[in-house]
Amino acid sequence: MQGKLIIFSAPSGAGKTTIVWHLLKKFPELAFSISATTRPPRAGEVNGKDYYFVSKEDFLHRVARHEFVEFEEVYSGSFYGTLMSELDRIWEEGKHVVFDIDVEGGLRLKRKYPDRALAIFVQPPSLERLRERLSGRGTDTAEKLEERIQKASRELAYAPRFDTVLVNDQLDRACLEAEQLVGSFLAKKT
Ligand code: ADP
Ligand code: 5GP
Repeated sequence: MQGKLIIFSAPSGAGKTTIVWHLLKKFPELAFSISATTRPPRAGEVNGKDYYFVSKEDFLHRVARHEFVEFEEVYSGSFYGTLMSELDRIWEEGKHVVFDIDVEGGLRLKRKYPDRALAIFVQPPSLERLRERLSGRGTDTAEKLEERIQKASRELAYAPRFDTVLVNDQLDRACLEAEQLVGSFLAKKT
């Protein structure tokens, strides 16, 4: 079996993480692609589960050794990337990979694996609601929150380049729609 890629991209705060973890509970044949990042862990985040938290030096060494399928400096000074070793690990287990990744990285993976990937853009109902969710999450300083909102308004323009747009207004409905999209993609022969 050739493993597939299910890519979730969206502005920060749109609800990707919430939807992705819902899907991982529903579909045992899916596994989460744990990215490497240089940003510090948030309260409750676990190294090797949410991210591989690495130093900038370690990250840049890995870039130089071509270990990443894709990487981005998503926010100034904070690097995020998908390690090839992570995809190999999941595919060797006979599973399909799910990504929570920024829009540029998501489109890059889709270009790299056009037939094996489903690229889903999670759209917040509005920028105001996005701001409410980000401040409700309480994980960013006022300055970081502004940076995320600024980036979000630019990222919304990427939606038409994805295979599907999933509007996350009511969470229950968005999770159900995500289940349907993923279920039919997994059932499809590539
Ligand atoms: P992302 O991974 O895209 O940055 P999260 O999944 O962390 O987003 O969601 C951001 C915040 O918004 C979280 O506190 C989450 O509980 C909340 N949230 C997610 N979806 C909804 C929704 N449909 N309605 C209200 N709040 C939501
Ligand atoms: P956060 O700091 O909120 O966990 O993530 C910030 C942004 O980085 C999110 O949009 C998330 O999807 C993105 N991201 C996480 N991992 C990767 C990755 O491996 N590559 C890229 N390009 N973006 C990532």
